[in-house]
Amino acid sequence: MATQQTFSIIKPDATRRNLTGAVNQKFEENGLRIVAQKRIQMTREQAEGFYAVHKERPFFGELVDFMISEPVVVQVLEGENAVLKNREIMGATNPEEADAGTIRKEFALSIGENSVHGSDSEENAAIEIAYFFNKDELVG
Ligand code: GDP
Repeated sequence: MATQQTFSIIKPDATRRNLTGAVNQKFEENGLRIVAQKRIQMTREQAEGFYAVHKERPFFGELVDFMISEPVVVQVLEGENAVLKNREIMGATNPEEADAGTIRKEFALSIGENSVHGSDSEENAAIEIAYFFNKDELVG
């Protein structure tokens, strides 16, 4: 499997509790390299656009309110099979269903406040990276 890039967000429940470093340690110790990273305050428009695929879901409003409630850290992670590997490191959406040792098992508060976002496919990773980063911000 070739080297891939995936998009990640450290969500407000984690930045609020000063867990940015602890989350990043999970990526790095599992072989993913942080090749771009910035802490931002998402606007409502940005969050609604990013999660547009979920706009008919009952939790959409709650999700957008949460994502703009505090700063987030947007990131590009690189490594072998990075999209799938990151999903494994993150764990299941609902922390109660997440495997031991995963970010969501160790840090998430609930199915909504679940500490991290990670792309679900290589195609979406490219779209999501371009949504938050210019090419010259990816420095390897
Ligand atoms: P992910 O790919 O594992 O992040 O999961 P999804 O794409 O299914 O959902 C996107 C995000 O929406 C999740 O990470 C949660 O933050 C949020 N979410 C999903 N399901 C629920 C829910 O039932 N209630 C709430 N409040 N948020 C949810």
